[in-house]
Amino acid sequence: MPKMNIKKGDTVKVISGKDKGKEGAVLYTHPQDQRVAVQGVAVVKKAMRPTQKNPQGGISSVEAPIHVSNVMLVCPACKAPTRVSIKREDGKKVRVCKKCGKSIDQ
Ligand SMILES: [Zn+2]
Repeated sequence: MPKMNIKKGDTVKVISGKDKGKEGAVLYTHPQDQRVAVQGVAVVKKAMRPTQKNPQGGISSVEAPIHVSNVMLVCPACKAPTRVSIKREDGKKVRVCKKCGKSIDQ
C-alpha cells in the first residue's frame, strides 16, 4: 500500500484548488488512492436516503476526499505548512518537521 505522511487528525493546509489557503483537520485518509478528507474543504451536498435515524432523508454536507498533493501538513510546533521527514526513534518511525525539526507525532 502506498504510504502517506498525513494521518487522520493532522491539521493540513490546502495549497491548490478552489479551497486553496484553507486549513482543517484530516477526517480520514484513503492511502489506496492518496486522498484525504479535510474538515471544511471540498464540501459537497449529498442527498441522504431516509434512514431510521433520519426518516425524512434530505441534504447533508460532506467533505469530499482531495488528493494528498493538494495539501501540506501544518506542523503543530511551528504552525507552518511543512514537508516531513521520517526519523527512527526507539525503533518507531516518527514524522519530523523539516522546518523546525520537532516531532509531529506526540
Ligand atoms: Zn515545525
